Amino acid sequence: MDFQKLIFIDLETTGANPVSDRITEIGLVEVDASGKAVTWSSLVNPEVSIPAFIQGLTGISNAMVQGAPTFAQLAPALHERLQGALFIAHNARFDYGFLRNAFSEAGLPFRSDVLCTVKLSRALFPLEKKHNLDALITRHDLQPDGRHRALADADLLWQLWQKLQRTLPENQFQSVLNSLLQRPSLPSHLASDAIDKIPDTPGVYLFYGENNEPLYVGKSVRLRQRVLSHFNADHKLYKDMRLSQQLHRIEWRQTAGEIGALLLEAQLIKDLQPIHNRKLRRQGDLCAWRLQEDARGRTLPVLTLASEQDFGHADRLYGLFSTKRKAESALRELAELHQLCLVELGMEGRAGVNKPCFAWQLHQCKGVCVGKEDASFHRARLEAALAKLHIKTWPYAGMVGLIEARDEDDMEVHVVNNWCYLGTARSEADLWSLLEQAPARPSFDIDTYKILSRALARKQLRIRPLQAITQPE
Ligand SMILES: [Zn+2]
Repeated sequence: MDFQKLIFIDLETTGANPVSDRITEIGLVEVDASGKAVTWSSLVNPEVSIPAFIQGLTGISNAMVQGAPTFAQLAPALHERLQGALFIAHNARFDYGFLRNAFSEAGLPFRSDVLCTVKLSRALFPLEKKHNLDALITRHDLQPDGRHRALADADLLWQLWQKLQRTLPENQFQSVLNSLLQRPSLPSHLASDAIDKIPDTPGVYLFYGENNEPLYVGKSVRLRQRVLSHFNADHKLYKDMRLSQQLHRIEWRQTAGEIGALLLEAQLIKDLQPIHNRKLRRQGDLCAWRLQEDARGRTLPVLTLASEQDFGHADRLYGLFSTKRKAESALRELAELHQLCLVELGMEGRAGVNKPCFAWQLHQCKGVCVGKEDASFHRARLEAALAKLHIKTWPYAGMVGLIEARDEDDMEVHVVNNWCYLGTARSEADLWSLLEQAPARPSFDIDTYKILSRALARKQLRIRPLQAITQPE
């Protein structure tokens, strides 16, 4: 837990209403990170009379509080003391509510993380019916030093805490605390300090399982926060729950920015094939439509595979699609939307000489198949319909470095050629070794294409041409 201290606290009051009733005593046990406990308590002058019934219950009489400081007098030092602490109380809503009100009247707004020991007890011992302090004293063999006085009751909570820590498995205690505090609880197989060092910077994280098998690779501009989000107490996602159960080790790589993280993530997913990353696209089936003229001068879309054609350099390509079937259904949808002719597109056979296409009969083709629309009009409409899917050709003469910097000391150069990511350099020496190993004509890569075409369109990166260095004329 990342609290500087725990404060076990109890209040005595003139009644149960936090707005109209007043505090008569505050007792607390303050425990620092090393486990050292300090106690503090004070009677509080409520500036109103204490009902006889309450005097009988707590033993705090009007006479006792008459000379005590008022809450306003105690407030500044108490407020200071509570900063950065986890506020722990039995029926915490009561004590927290009273204190917040009192602080607010004293002109000191107060907020704190709160843990209720009733809820804690209920979560840890769900079969027990009673969770009041007397029941806990008996169940856990606590040693009361007086009852219904603030410090004595606060001390009972501290005793309870120590007892639970001693007797319960650490994982169980911790995960119940985390869920009560709405904090992420760490997976049970993960070392408790496993996330302490993860920085909140851009980068990529890797989850490994029991035998070091890669489970999942992810990226974020805020690594630490993203990793923790996998372990939310309520596990909304089944995938995250499975991940948590299998996770044994976390690795991470910092990057200078988002683009570097995206590129590295895509590369690691390809290299490691983690079992929880979605099924990988097989580059072999990757395809696109290419507009070509046939022998009669008609413009036809022809299905083209990335494995057969260099997508980074071919023009008039539209896509991308992970399978031929998806490519075909996408084109049919476009045809329907834009009232294009499937016969003209070569996707439907003609019923007979000069017979119209099927859609013409439904008034859903503009009639290029029966001479009612000029072929050049149809071609222009086809190109317009496909425009959104246009694959940009690699716009540079060859290899380039894309410069991404968080600040002057943290600069990265992503080396890219033909929409293919070759690696990231953090120094000139890195850069040279990347250039030496770079393939002359790397194959088109869909993930890099998507990441970079977006980044380049937004002008997110500075570009340094590298081709001149590697291929002197
Ligand atoms: Zn038609």
